[in-house]
Amino acid sequence: MWDIDHTLLRGGDVAARAWMAAFTEVTGLAWQATPAFAGRTDLDICAEVFAVHGVTGCTPERFFDRYVEQVHASRHLFAERGTLLPGVRAVLDALGTRDDVVQTLVTGNVPQVAAAKIAAFGLTGAFDAEVGGYGTDDSVRATLVRRCRERAEAKYGESFRPVVIGDTAHDVSAALANDALAVGVATGGTTMAELAHAGAHAVLADLSDVAATIDIITA
Ligand SMILES: [Mg+2]
Repeated sequence: MWDIDHTLLRGGDVAARAWMAAFTEVTGLAWQATPAFAGRTDLDICAEVFAVHGVTGCTPERFFDRYVEQVHASRHLFAERGTLLPGVRAVLDALGTRDDVVQTLVTGNVPQVAAAKIAAFGLTGAFDAEVGGYGTDDSVRATLVRRCRERAEAKYGESFRPVVIGDTAHDVSAALANDALAVGVATGGTTMAELAHAGAHAVLADLSDVAATIDIITA
């Protein structure tokens, strides 16, 4: 269960700009305050943004529709302004050769935006995105892990030992709430010490040591 932002890639400011533009289009209000996005679900962020700006006449669904349109209009900028993080492609490729591993996404992003980010870096084929957990499933990240596991077990007809890989304490706590293996990777704004303190079972500076990463994920 891979987190996307700051775990697999950095998308530049493309999604944040799309978010702000969509907000003003849908609500007619000027953007005032940018919340902390890291590790949170889009439903959670949306609720905060609406509250801070005093929005009452709009649903998250209507906002997300416009947000997705904005992201699609600027999706060519992800690869231009963003970057794939060290070791990611090699780790995904190595795990992709194993028939005892299903790789998917557990991300706070709405599904269409998750797909656009992954596609921008040529990673679409690495994941079974259909069984992923997304920021439209629930505002609480732990629920995304649960939904992902349920979707995977329903589709594949077997039980899985979930592994959550992410860059924030939110990823770690969501894993722990589901008895999943929590692997922290310090390529975002959270340090290795902070990820360990949050309870991660393993912490990596980044994914550049492919063999070590594979060993941890498949242990
Ligand atoms: Mg992240």
